[in-house]
Amino acid sequence: KLVSRELKETPTIVRIGGVPVGGRALVIMAGPCAVESEEQLLTTAMAVKAAGAHILRGGAYKPRTSPYAFQGLEEEGLKMLARVREEVGMPIVTEVLDTRDVALVAEYADALQIGARNMQNFRLLKEAGTTGKPILLKRGLAASIEEWLMAAEYILDSGNPHVILCERGIRTFETATRFTLDLAAVAVVKENSHLPVVVDPSHGTGSWRLVPPMARAAVAAGADGLIIEVHPDPARALCDGPQSLHPETFDRLMGEIEPVALAV
Ligand code: PEP
Ligand code: MN
Repeated sequence: KLVSRELKETPTIVRIGGVPVGGRALVIMAGPCAVESEEQLLTTAMAVKAAGAHILRGGAYKPRTSPYAFQGLEEEGLKMLARVREEVGMPIVTEVLDTRDVALVAEYADALQIGARNMQNFRLLKEAGTTGKPILLKRGLAASIEEWLMAAEYILDSGNPHVILCERGIRTFETATRFTLDLAAVAVVKENSHLPVVVDPSHGTGSWRLVPPMARAAVAAGADGLIIEVHPDPARALCDGPQSLHPETFDRLMGEIEPVALAV
C-alpha cells in the first residue's frame, strides 16, 4: 500500500503554503470553527499568529448535525479566508463537503480538509486528490485506524501524495467527553505509515478546558502538529463555542507546548 511504511521508510513532509508538516518542527493550525465575518476571522488570525500559530483554520462549509444550525458562509467565507491570508500572512486550511465544491474551494485554500463525516466519501477523496492540493484527512467518527489509512490510500492512489492525517476523536461509550481522543492512534500511525499526523483536541474533547492537557499529551505522543479551535468570543460563537479557546488561553497553551515539543 502507498500509505505504508514498508513501502516508504522516510517520513513524508507535506507543505501547506510555505509550512512543512511532518518535519522536525511542530506545526500549529488554529482558528475559528466557522468563518462568521471578516472581522471575526481577522481578529482571530492576528491573535493566533501573534501566539505562534503557523496555519489558519476556518470552515466556510460546515457539516452540522442539525439542518437548522448555521451552515457556513460558503463562497463569501472562502473570499474572507483569502483576504485574511493576504492581510495576516498565514496559509489557510478549510473543509470541502461535496464533490461539486472541490474546484471552488481549491481555488482559495492552501489545503483542503476532508471532515470526519466524509472520511469514507470515496468520490470526494478522489476528487479532492486530483486537485493536487494538500489534504487534511480527519479520522471518521467510527473509523478504525485501518479504515482511516485506506481512505488516505484513495487520495495517494489518485496521484496526490500530500496527505496529513488528523486524529479528532472517535465514538465510544464514554459520555464525559464529546468524543474519545485516541492518542494511541498517533503512535500506531507512526509505526505503520510515513504520513504526518496531527491531533485535534478541540473536537476530540468538546470542551475548551480539556484542550490544553490533551494538546500537551498529543505533542508528547509524537504528533506532527495540532489543530485547535480559537474564537474571540466563544460564548457567542455560531459553531463549537464550548470547545473553542479564547485567544488568551490559546496564547498560554502555546507557552506550555513548547517545552513538551523540545522534550520529544
Ligand atoms: C471542524 O474541523 O470544524 C470539523 C467539523 O471537524 P470534524 O470533521 O472532525 O468533526
Ligand atoms: Mn468545529
